[in-house]
Amino acid sequence: MVKAPSSAPRTRKASTAATAKRVSVKPEKAQPAARTKAASDKAKTGHNAPTAQAPRDMTKAEIRAFLTDLSRAWPDAETELHYTTPFTLLVAVVLSAQATDASVNRVTPALFAAAPTPTAMVELGEEGVGQHIRTIGLWRNKAKNVVELSRQLLERHKGQVPGTREELEALAGVGRKTANVVLNVAFNQPTVPVDTHVFRLANRTGLGRGKTVEAVEAALEKRIPPEMIRESHHWMILQGRYVCKARKPECWRCVATTPCLFPAKTDRPVSKPPRPGA
Ligand code: SF4
Repeated sequence: MVKAPSSAPRTRKASTAATAKRVSVKPEKAQPAARTKAASDKAKTGHNAPTAQAPRDMTKAEIRAFLTDLSRAWPDAETELHYTTPFTLLVAVVLSAQATDASVNRVTPALFAAAPTPTAMVELGEEGVGQHIRTIGLWRNKAKNVVELSRQLLERHKGQVPGTREELEALAGVGRKTANVVLNVAFNQPTVPVDTHVFRLANRTGLGRGKTVEAVEAALEKRIPPEMIRESHHWMILQGRYVCKARKPECWRCVATTPCLFPAKTDRPVSKPPRPGA
């Protein structure tokens, strides 16, 4: 059932994070020109350029069918970041930039026990926050931003997380994607945060093709049925993270192969027979 959007902040208890299977893959050798182009694309978009694109955009009927299939595959989809309040959600999302949700979830229990509110976070200070988050990437900068955004929440919003994009994006370390996640998850607003998984999935399947994050976000906002927008964020992330993977989508176990327009769907890998005597 699709929940009606509401402006009231939502909180929830820490969810059980699905265990992401780490696959170690050797990077393919790239030609110097290709590497330069890829680096330039990544610098522009913040994501790797789509390795494969659907030949056309899905029709509205195909989008509805695709997302309905995903909703059946991920019926209880929620963010995998652990949080208990809009403030701890905001901090967790800021910490998750260029880091996995699992790595953030490993450090936030101790951080949030020490500093569950903006006041406590300011008191803990940059050094104290840094002590808790050293295992995640860019921790020095993130510690600085978390303390500064806490100070800004106290100064500008009486310690509350604001519910508008403009106010969120004015906070230290909060960009468009972070604001979109907070609006979607804490305030039930129909935003479509585009992370690396959504960017890839949208281009590959024809859900919403585009060369930049902004183009994909605009395409998805325009094309996804309004009543599916808010939850589709979670379905698309989980589908991209666990099934429609970057290097090789696992189409043989995908629930949405029929509406998906990716032209090079993958077959189930053939398991090698055991060696004689093994
Ligand atoms: S069929 Fe393959 S390419 Fe299409 S969404 Fe599923 S896993 Fe991704």
